[in-house]
Amino acid sequence: MKTLSTEDKNYLMGKIRDIPDFPKPGIVFKDITTLLRDPKAFGFLMDHLEDRYKEMEIDFIAGIDSRGFIFGAALADRLEKGFVPIRKQGKLPYTTIGEKYALEYGFDEIEIHIDAFESDKERPNVLLIDDLIATGGTATAAANLIEKSGAHCVEACFILGLNFLRGDRKLQKITSVYSVLEVD
Ligand code: AMP
Repeated sequence: MKTLSTEDKNYLMGKIRDIPDFPKPGIVFKDITTLLRDPKAFGFLMDHLEDRYKEMEIDFIAGIDSRGFIFGAALADRLEKGFVPIRKQGKLPYTTIGEKYALEYGFDEIEIHIDAFESDKERPNVLLIDDLIATGGTATAAANLIEKSGAHCVEACFILGLNFLRGDRKLQKITSVYSVLEVD
């Protein structure tokens, strides 16, 4: 497996745009649309993800609503695996199971279809993917949901980790965590 050099990481990081005070004052929003619209950068990132996960025993790739769908679906196609969307509450049409998680104020909930990981295997392996990990609340709920549905979350993968928020700490209790890029 090829690891990315500092130069490679700087190249990808340079394609992500910072939007200060979005969606509210004090938040620096990491805008990955600038990376996606650049075919060379997007392809380079997908080559890296394909290389990292091609030898791993994975049955499904689950992407978190909504930017996790972009990377998750592209990777699932490259690895010839099934893709499963983990969606915000009320969006999936069939019978769902859900997991609530705490926000700064109140709660949010994510859901998957009850038969999302139906497979010949008793406990299929799932790679979880999202664009970014901040506090880790969303991804921890998603990993719990995967386990609750009878599958096994083998790793949670992010394009960018905001390390200073230490969101990986709680997630690491459930699964292995990998961020392609990190902000300290
Ligand atoms: P958290 O549950 O705090 O780890 O938040 C992760 C989710 O919120 C991911 O789905 C991200 O897409 C989104 N998110 C949180 N903070 C940011 C940020 N600074 N820039 C872009 N997306 C963010």
